[in-house]
Amino acid sequence: MTTYRARVLAPVSSSEVRWLNDAVVVVDGGRFVEVAAFDGRDVDEDLRPAVVVPGFVDSHVHFPQTRIVGAATGPLLEWLAKSTFPEEQRFADPAFAAQIATVFCDRLVQAGTTLAMVYGSVHPAACEALYAEVERRGLRVIAGPVLMDRDCPDALKFPAEQAIPALRDLVERWHGRDGRIEVAVVPRFALSTSMALMTAGGELAREHGLWVTTHLSENPIECQVACDMYGTADYLEVYEQAGLLHERSVYAHCIHLSDAEWDRFAAAGAVVAHCPDSNFFLGSGNMPTGKVRERGIPLALGTDIAAGRSFRVPRIASSAYDNGLWTGLTLDPRELLWWATAGGAAALGHPELGKLEVGGEADFVTVDVPEWAETEDEALGWVLFDHDARCTGTWVRGQRL
Ligand SMILES: [Zn+2]
Repeated sequence: MTTYRARVLAPVSSSEVRWLNDAVVVVDGGRFVEVAAFDGRDVDEDLRPAVVVPGFVDSHVHFPQTRIVGAATGPLLEWLAKSTFPEEQRFADPAFAAQIATVFCDRLVQAGTTLAMVYGSVHPAACEALYAEVERRGLRVIAGPVLMDRDCPDALKFPAEQAIPALRDLVERWHGRDGRIEVAVVPRFALSTSMALMTAGGELAREHGLWVTTHLSENPIECQVACDMYGTADYLEVYEQAGLLHERSVYAHCIHLSDAEWDRFAAAGAVVAHCPDSNFFLGSGNMPTGKVRERGIPLALGTDIAAGRSFRVPRIASSAYDNGLWTGLTLDPRELLWWATAGGAAALGHPELGKLEVGGEADFVTVDVPEWAETEDEALGWVLFDHDARCTGTWVRGQRL
């Protein structure tokens, strides 16, 4: 059992947080056993003035783009061709992949991210290196190799006859490992993944109850190419035809969808991975947050490394606030914290994570917040909007990583 004294900021719902400027947090057996106002007892460690918040949830991050943050070669299709595809080819070497997996996990820990939905390269062995490092470090991921077989460099084309059996093998060996690793089906996007491969991936996902994740409606030219390529009336219809739109599917970006697409998206129970910093860096546009909220669509935040420029989910929450204002919506910081933690975790199938509730698994982080921030609003402001704030510690199941 470990007893901490700290300041505590925890989401209760999308509109309510719990703020304790002087608290005791007791962890035992990997779970919270007490979170309460400080009562003068002896503690093992005094974490003040840092603020304890739940571990952050990143719903969209690319492992093989760890080294190319800041590649200023956008917009999207140019950035993929010039910066992304050349780098991802290097992951054919499992030793290189293992080396970058350690850096990637370092960055997640430093950012305070305890659960991430991760895109690999096409190479199953590279994804396996990631799973192994995640297992060793104690993080949580939902991750898979990207599925690609068209309109990309030959070295990154991996046809369904090879990709699906390789993915099935990863599922058998890694899915559910220690309750912290889930294998996902990850068609890169309609422009690089054939209908046959998308459909086969969707079937595998249904067979094993896996998450599906891909990119949707990020860039206007991409949208037009997708409709032309598949002869559909809109972009979403491509994924509907492939059997990929359902309540275990997560779609990154979702910027240029029509109201009809949003209605079908909502009816299917799919999830939005909102990646505002990436959307700004590639000039992709503003995700219409209001359309998501009014339809009750689940939303999680995504860094989208490396089109996004920070592994820090609070940095993305801050961009989500800016994006909201640009679309005529003033977001409550409580809702941003919700998306960054419990709401994001729930959207990814883990409603038990992302809160500091007694009985819950003890995933939490400490964030550097100045002592003078003493009220709930001040604490929220510094945790979410101070771009220089450091995460000073990251714990999963009560273990400091
Ligand atoms: Zn992405």
